[in-house]
Amino acid sequence: MSTKSFQDLINEVHDRGICQECGGCVSFCSSAEFNIIGFKDKYSPPEYINKDKCLECGICYYICPQTHILDDSLNKSYKFSDFSSMPIGYYEDIYSCRATDKEFLEYGTDGGVVNSIINYLIEKKMIDGAIVSRTDAPFSREATFADNKPDLIRSSGAKLDISPQLDEIQKFSTYTHSIPELNHYKFKKLAVVGTPCQLYTVRCMQDLGVTPSENVEICLGLFCYENFFFDKSQIKKFEKDFNIKFSDIEKINIKEDVIFKLKSEGAGEKIIHIPFNHLNNYMRFACNACDDFTNVYADISFGGLGSPDKYTTVIVRTEKGKKVMAQVISDGVVSCLEIDSSKKNKMIELISQFSQSKVNRKEDFMKDLV
Ligand SMILES: Cc1cc2nc3c(=O)[nH]c(=O)nc-3n(C[C@H](O)[C@H](O)[C@H](O)COP(=O)(O)OP(=O)(O)OC[C@H]3O[C@@H](n4cnc5c(N)ncnc54)[C@H](O)[C@@H]3O)c2cc1C
Ligand code: SF4
Ligand code: SF4
Ligand code: SF4
Repeated sequence: MSTKSFQDLINEVHDRGICQECGGCVSFCSSAEFNIIGFKDKYSPPEYINKDKCLECGICYYICPQTHILDDSLNKSYKFSDFSSMPIGYYEDIYSCRATDKEFLEYGTDGGVVNSIINYLIEKKMIDGAIVSRTDAPFSREATFADNKPDLIRSSGAKLDISPQLDEIQKFSTYTHSIPELNHYKFKKLAVVGTPCQLYTVRCMQDLGVTPSENVEICLGLFCYENFFFDKSQIKKFEKDFNIKFSDIEKINIKEDVIFKLKSEGAGEKIIHIPFNHLNNYMRFACNACDDFTNVYADISFGGLGSPDKYTTVIVRTEKGKKVMAQVISDGVVSCLEIDSSKKNKMIELISQFSQSKVNRKEDFMKDLV
């Protein structure tokens, strides 16, 4: 390999504002024990901490989702060619499902399918646990490890009261640093739930055969059109723009648009839909440079788009994913809607449209990027 190093990531990725903060470089640094790089601030790209100890091995550079060095190799492994011919990636099948467990269904973002699959894999001892994301408030998430049902329910990201410290916290983000968490659980068999940028780095490391990626048993990918970031001034602007009090937001969901469930004084729920293009001011800048909507390298991908309310769209991609999905269906962990081929085609068309629009957004953005 050539003599690339983390300095090249600083020059080519960070300084251009397109670091997606996936944390891959930090997790998989060849010399992680020397604390060479790390997140000094969780809302900014990683930085050199002990630059003199950098081996200049280039691993961080090769696995970064913004350098695309290993794309050809991954595309071969995951039977994917490119977004123009396969906008939603290679898939074996597509479903619309929901959890049969009442709690996973109630607290789940959509059909509670992701966490009920993780719970099943733990019960069957196929994994020791999973890196998921705990929701402290609708816009504040922390990566965490879950190996039991109560912890999974806590990480389901549904109804949660906003913490009373809301006003003291300066920044909120829907993004979470799940991948660096991998380092704490090096000797366990893990499921990792992640956005496309996060799972990309895991797949690159598996491609290169570098520790601790061999502990990742299964990659459960979330659809992701974009992520959001708010500091104090943006919270004020958001409240003015949309006439919504931040502290009234109980839950957010993302499908065709961004859906806010608000606290309501009277009976019933107050739901507000805001189109993605109205939220451009709150989107993480680096998300503009990302073209994968459906998580094309996951074993199974999950989203709300294409399914009715309280159902999850499930795209099964790999042999491993196929096996797990067959098991959870036959053991009654999830129930699936019966969808005929014409409905399936409609789902695929809708998801392909969103995938294509993300690809186009990146193309436009990259044209102007210096
Ligand atoms: C930032 C973000 C953007 C999304 N964008 C879209 C979109 O544009 N269109 C669409 O159809 N679907 C989108 N999704 C996916 C959708 O919101 C649901 O997560 C998905 O449908 C699974 O629902 P579920 O009820 O089956 O999952 P659940 O059973 O509720 O499980 C969800 C799992 O995701 C984990 N999780 C939550 N947030 C994060 C995070 N930020 N990083 C890593 N893990 C996390 C939770 O801990 C939990 O393990 C997005 C999700 C996120 C987190
Ligand atoms: S690997 Fe991830 S965190 Fe590291 S520079 Fe690339 S995008 Fe940023
Ligand atoms: S040791 Fe290798 S992986 Fe770690 S920062 Fe230096 S170049 Fe990157
Ligand atoms: S759009 Fe989603 S997958 Fe892409 S960089 Fe942003 S958070 Fe990561």
